[in-house]
Amino acid sequence: MTGVDPARVAQLMAREERRFIEAHPRSGALFARARHSLLGGVPMNWMRKWPSPYPPFVAGAEGGHFSCVDGHDYVDLCLGDTGAMTGHAPPQAVKAIADQAARGSTLMLPTEDAIWVGEELARRFGLPFWQFTLTATDANRFSIRLARAITGRHKILVFNWCYHGSVDEAFITLRDGVAGPRDGNIGPPVDPSVTTRVVEWNDIPALEEALAHGDVAAVLAEPVMTNIGIVHPEPGFHDALRRLTREAGTLLIIDETHTICAGPGGYTREQGLEPDIFVIGKPIAGGLPAGAYGFTEAVAERVAAHITLELADVGGIGGTLAGNALSLAAMRATLSSVLTDDAYARTIPLAERWTRGVETAIAEFGLPWQVTRLGCRAEYMFGPDRPRNGSEAAAMDDFAVQRLTHLYALNRGVLLTPFHNMALVAPQATEADIDRHTAAFREMAAELTA
Ligand code: PMP
Repeated sequence: MTGVDPARVAQLMAREERRFIEAHPRSGALFARARHSLLGGVPMNWMRKWPSPYPPFVAGAEGGHFSCVDGHDYVDLCLGDTGAMTGHAPPQAVKAIADQAARGSTLMLPTEDAIWVGEELARRFGLPFWQFTLTATDANRFSIRLARAITGRHKILVFNWCYHGSVDEAFITLRDGVAGPRDGNIGPPVDPSVTTRVVEWNDIPALEEALAHGDVAAVLAEPVMTNIGIVHPEPGFHDALRRLTREAGTLLIIDETHTICAGPGGYTREQGLEPDIFVIGKPIAGGLPAGAYGFTEAVAERVAAHITLELADVGGIGGTLAGNALSLAAMRATLSSVLTDDAYARTIPLAERWTRGVETAIAEFGLPWQVTRLGCRAEYMFGPDRPRNGSEAAAMDDFAVQRLTHLYALNRGVLLTPFHNMALVAPQATEADIDRHTAAFREMAAELTA
């Protein structure tokens, strides 16, 4: 489907691997050392999946760039897979973090910043009540628990090939219409079909049928799929999702962790969605760990009726460091001064420029590929047609070609988001940064089709 010769891909990959090793001796030495103390030589299992023979070790990062210990400068279009969507080390957040760190980081008591942040999240996203976590994963987990508690139902519904963090209930895929554990699902507590119903994105009849069982506490959805490539909703899909969930007595949890790239109020505010529960994480604290989840007034009342004071600390919604003073100071600074309307006014046109650059090269070399964009995030996929759902998007992926596209860019000073071909633009990025990627992509397209 990719339209390129696998032998040519393998040949270019071997050359690019040699080039990487020659240019990164210090990272190579650090990786050799790391293998003695870190499992697989990396601090987190997915860091093994970078396309280079070993990861470049970071020396420092600022704005839309980082440098590695071998002295190379990179345009960062990965931005910690959205955790650094503010750009690295945004000065306003750095100052707030330093100030708060000097006054105490975690106390199990609220600071005034918590109220400011709750009020700002309510203003931005339209839901009145908020809670904090350290990660978006936890915000999703806790939302699911609360949804089950207040509806008295035991299942949740997700869309095929979704990703919402390491949430057990979401590691389910449909294969030929049959639901089962997602490939690579490590040590699931139970078969996820016990906890979860799964349907294809944009499939309204399947959604209606799944909800008709009357056992679904909540639908957990990104408003635009972003974790199997970008897959947009078709016109009317969100209206149907909201109508059908309301009719079925099912709560709607919208996970905006990635789709905050759509605008300052996320896709929810851009499109006037009406979730019952709203989840956000990653960039909202300028790179420090922080997540949040918000509720409508109706959900907040039902939650209050279900949680007793005596058992409030042992109900499975926890996190000793959640809501800590340091994360909240960082959130306040980030939301007030970094993730602003002005930032989006810069990043979205740059993502449009990235999209045009890649589309032009695709057309010039006749590759059967296409580009999709959501706000300041864009992605190319190895197929000619826009995918309608997760299965179609998954079928367009090709691990070998994907590894080559990433390593090719890396060797020319550009870091793409791993696991697919995605670019996210930092507020400090310039047209020259975007054009660095376009030049690398064009060179690769020429070599792939030569
Ligand atoms: N929700 C979505 C939509 C995500 O893409 C991710 C991570 N990629 C998460 C939640 C989980 O974020 P974290 O790993 O920071 O908990």
